[in-house]
Amino acid sequence: MTWNLYDRLLASAGTDPAICIEKDDGSTLSYAELAALSGRFASFLASIGIGPDHRVACKAEKSVEAVALYLATLRAGAVYLPLNTAYRPAETEYFIRDAQPTLIVCDPKEAAALRAITAKAGGRVETLDSNGEGSLADAAAPCPAEFSTVARAKDDLAAILYTSGTTGRSKGAMLTHGNLVSNALTLIEEWRYTSHDVLIHALPIFHIHGLFVAGNVTFAARARMIFMQKFEAERILTAMARATVLMGVPTFYVRLLQSPNLSPAATAHMRLFVAGSAPLLAETHRAWKERSGHEILERYGMTETGMITSNPYEGPRIPGSVGRPLPGVALRIADPETGAPLGADEVGMIEVKGPNVFAGYWRMPEKTAAEFRADGFFITGDLGKIGADGTVQIVGRGKDLIISGGFNVYPKEIETEIDAIAGVAESAVIGVPHADFGEGVTAAVVRTPGASVDERAILTALAERLAKFKQPKRVIFVDQLPRNTMGKVQKNLLRDRFADIYQ
Ligand code: ATP
Ligand code: MG
Repeated sequence: MTWNLYDRLLASAGTDPAICIEKDDGSTLSYAELAALSGRFASFLASIGIGPDHRVACKAEKSVEAVALYLATLRAGAVYLPLNTAYRPAETEYFIRDAQPTLIVCDPKEAAALRAITAKAGGRVETLDSNGEGSLADAAAPCPAEFSTVARAKDDLAAILYTSGTTGRSKGAMLTHGNLVSNALTLIEEWRYTSHDVLIHALPIFHIHGLFVAGNVTFAARARMIFMQKFEAERILTAMARATVLMGVPTFYVRLLQSPNLSPAATAHMRLFVAGSAPLLAETHRAWKERSGHEILERYGMTETGMITSNPYEGPRIPGSVGRPLPGVALRIADPETGAPLGADEVGMIEVKGPNVFAGYWRMPEKTAAEFRADGFFITGDLGKIGADGTVQIVGRGKDLIISGGFNVYPKEIETEIDAIAGVAESAVIGVPHADFGEGVTAAVVRTPGASVDERAILTALAERLAKFKQPKRVIFVDQLPRNTMGKVQKNLLRDRFADIYQ
């Protein structure tokens, strides 16, 4: 039997009149229409010779046609390679040289720049704008809507998804049809997803969260999505009246909380709020419950593995916890250096194994080998612990661990203490080169509007609560923390910015 993700999730979509996507202008697309559109795109891809193992890169704005291109690439048996739309041409060049796609689909505004790049690297460029119009749509329009999906095996590549680049240069994670099928089916069960669900889709579709978690789960359940080109708090709040699920990064929830229109009445029709891609502050979890009556369901995952853990659909969702490993996923905490297993509540490296775990980094065999243990567990790079009750807590990224005077300092512990101080909106704790200590614990703090809390007040408050070696040597106030499009704090930028403060 074929493992092609399209066949697994959407095989009979061609005759399904149910609505799949509702666009910003109110128009809708049924599953049958999406199947036909993806069929035309797939016919076009096949007509220019694209098939198994060819890469199709997409750096187009969010549109229904971009979704159809994703499905068409799967149907043609090729490998889908979405790129962050924010990348500038110089950054894009790295990805194109690295991935060598046969076809690159981009916004018409970028076509000239990308053609110049592909003139050197090879590959054809077609366009798709934010309305789904462009040379790709034109070329596909006369092609047959019927397309017989190419059979693929479980371990064949479905996508190369670049990681967010939070800790360094993005790596291309090779994801198989088997990886994506298993994760989508697991999440449907876990989150009780059905064809009655209506998802508010306001995430970008170049990242795992918006494409595979939100997209594949909705397709697999034959549910509906309200497809928003960008995040707009008030539009989301209005849409909640007829939606059932929202999937967002923590910043979505922080911004929605700023609206006076968030209330139990506004969210009464909703059954599920999911957060992930970055840590959700316990404070945000509690505030959301207070204002809306709902508990956000936080889950944890990464590009390389899809979703790994989830708080329960039924049962308590613990603020600050990412829940338990999903069915079929093995998770353990190991000593980062030796790989020796650690016990309950001991902090160490999170390692995972399961059908969701990727096939390796694209053209990085050494890096791939270095990130797997001999028994097949993938070393996530995230530090965490498992409580006696089996729930997982993330303590931070291994790369963010600070070693000051020979002691390990986990930034999250310090951040949690700082965030609890009156007048503090949020904080990020980093290690900065320090002549005496190796690294000096340093806090970047954002004040709440109008607050006047200063460095002395923060250091005084922490002195009572943290051992001396954990206390920041400096507290620096900033207007905001640098974040990327997925709401992740870019600590590398903070480390660069404050690199010289102890010199
Ligand atoms: P790069 O690997 O290029 O540095 P990245 O790790 O940010 O970038 P992604 O794959 O998009 O790229 O993100 C996965 C990471 O996001 C996880 O390893 C983890 O650090 C973080 N993350 C995801 N969900 C959560 C969560 N619920 N709580 C805390 N961190 C999370
Ligand atoms: Mg990563």
